[in-house]
Amino acid sequence: MSWLPPLREELRGIEPYGAPQLDVPVQLNVNENPYPPDADCAADIAGAVLAAATTLNRYPDREFRALRQGLSEYLAVESGVAVPWQQVWAANGSNEVMLQLLQAFGGPGRTAVSFAPTYSMYPEYARDTATGWVAGRRREDFGFDLEHAEALLGEHRPSVVLLPSPNNPTGTALPPEVVAPLCAMAAAMGGVVVIDEAYAEFRRDGVPSALELLAEHPNLVVTRTMSKAFALAGARLGYLAASQPIVDAIRVVRLPYHLSAVTQAVASAALRHAPSLLGKVAELRAERDRCVELLRGAGYAVADSDANFVLFGRFADRHAVWQGLLNRGVLIRETGPDGWLRVSVGTASEMAAFSTALADIRDNGV
Ligand code: PMP
Repeated sequence: MSWLPPLREELRGIEPYGAPQLDVPVQLNVNENPYPPDADCAADIAGAVLAAATTLNRYPDREFRALRQGLSEYLAVESGVAVPWQQVWAANGSNEVMLQLLQAFGGPGRTAVSFAPTYSMYPEYARDTATGWVAGRRREDFGFDLEHAEALLGEHRPSVVLLPSPNNPTGTALPPEVVAPLCAMAAAMGGVVVIDEAYAEFRRDGVPSALELLAEHPNLVVTRTMSKAFALAGARLGYLAASQPIVDAIRVVRLPYHLSAVTQAVASAALRHAPSLLGKVAELRAERDRCVELLRGAGYAVADSDANFVLFGRFADRHAVWQGLLNRGVLIRETGPDGWLRVSVGTASEMAAFSTALADIRDNGV
């Protein structure tokens, strides 16, 4: 007997999202930090989990005040912007933070907008919350086209604008003069602007964070994550900073106790080790810049990057190149516009393995 569950029409035949998880020596496909937490940090995390374990008969602090306080202190140091803990919110990865934003501000009859090529989860948040989805476009060089964006907002009057800075998969940061007018325009139509700063810590010197605009724009949300620069992807902790009314709205849609006592303990302990966890960011930025130079030197087209990954091309058959690298033990990501591939920045030896494999593929005429 074959039985089909009553899956929503729009979900039928859809594969779950996710990059291949393959056990290969060089993994440069999901923009992780290649350096694990050091022994001191791991021991402190273990101690915090042990302490939490003795309280696991109770539900955790639903408002996770200590963690929000820690995140607020971190933001003050990282970006020089003071955000009170009440205006910080967190969930299991910034993916969940953004789903909560769409649950609160999207929904049937409403529209979310972004600009392609961009992060492929955005249309999924929209789909899962029955929010309409409209993708505008970026310029040929992946830069942001404010005029086009203003026209698109005028046409669709979205309740949510989702914009990563730096953008995934291109690595492009938004110039400061873009965010403020977008916020003003979205505010006029009652919408929020979400600047997804998952990769913000990797931005080049002189590129400001949208956090600096929070005080002036009550409809601005800045999301961050501990998964990338913070080297804590496995802990699943993403967060946002926004005005009080936005945080209060999200508290309506969150599930009670959505952040486990273990997650809260791990993230708070990790925040105490921020300098060591973030200790490799400068090295990774330098490695990224070397990678860009090397690829350009080899004649590839390469997008400027403010993140910990590099988009390069253009290939007549990008899948063959991706497969060729995988055959040589190097896993990168087949994503972005046709003809382009994305490589995450790893350790110096991982990057050397990547460039050797790429050169070998080229020599073999792929
Ligand atoms: N935003 C962007 C632009 C991303 O690339 C990612 C991860 N690939 C996320 C958000 C989500 O990351 P996490 O859920 O691990 O915080």
